[in-house]
Amino acid sequence: MSKIISGKEVSAQVREQVRKECEELKAKGVDPGLAVIIVGDDPASRVYVNNKKKACADVGFVSEEYALPAETTQEELLALIDTLNSKPSVNGILCQLPLPEHLDEKAVINAISPLKDVDAFHPSNVGRIMIGDYHFLPCTPAGVMELIHSAGIEVSGKSCVVIGRSNIVGKPMAMLLLHENGTVTICHSRTKNLTEICREADILVAAVGRPKFVTGDMVKEGAAVLDVGINRDENGKLCGDVDFESVEPKAGFITPVPGGVGPMTIAMLMKNTLKAAKLQNGMD
Ligand code: NDP
Repeated sequence: MSKIISGKEVSAQVREQVRKECEELKAKGVDPGLAVIIVGDDPASRVYVNNKKKACADVGFVSEEYALPAETTQEELLALIDTLNSKPSVNGILCQLPLPEHLDEKAVINAISPLKDVDAFHPSNVGRIMIGDYHFLPCTPAGVMELIHSAGIEVSGKSCVVIGRSNIVGKPMAMLLLHENGTVTICHSRTKNLTEICREADILVAAVGRPKFVTGDMVKEGAAVLDVGINRDENGKLCGDVDFESVEPKAGFITPVPGGVGPMTIAMLMKNTLKAAKLQNGMD
């Protein structure tokens, strides 16, 4: 088995499975659909939205884009979400973040019906994840778990360290590892002895947002290192939170950037949308 876990390969397998199940749903008269809302003209958000639309087309979903001007009001955005919540052909609703500053992200997340919340950001879905009784998992942590499984890495009883405690990545990541019986430590910017803690990890997940932050001296020989980061290095080149060059020789498994966790996030979004379509049609 390769030491480098390819998100490109694993995400292609996930998408293939979704494509197959989408065909089966269509044969039963259900046509899965995802609505993507984008507010303003942030170039990175535009790229993400285009990639999500492409992925929908690839697996056979209908995608609807709602591109709203930057000056859209909170009321207008909430009214759109309300309409999409009650539109039967829309199974999943995704509002691309970040939103322009005058809009209240929390209120927007709360407005999306939990059954259509394919990002799994709604407090009711977050709570369900906490108690291990969920419909959807947040796409990036779920993608990391899929990579761990694909490499045959056993989580149970292992020392797992997650660097980062964001609501989107770090916290749910820790919870998913805990659900699989890992012994989990969450590190953040106030953590003391970070290097020592990381060196104890059998499974190390980096979700820091700092280029090449995790270096070889922070990694135990043979550890599985999963790199969530998407950054630019000093030359403007895409890189992760892990310094691949110094970590790869020590790691038992490692995910590259690009081609690691990144492609998994969209694949898991497709999986969640399929699940939403099944749920809303009494097929799950
Ligand atoms: P956030 O900025 O929300 O969180 C970063 C976390 O890292 C915080 O908890 C912060 O601690 C911690 N941190 C920052 N500096 C240090 C430090 N010196 N030592 C220890 N911990 C530190 O980022 P996200 O969780 O949203 O994203 C993390 C990375 O993952 C980013 O590069 C982002 O681009 C990428 N990402 C990739 C995705 C993908 O699809 N591959 C999807 C989502 C994100 P504190 O809480 O104390 O501030």
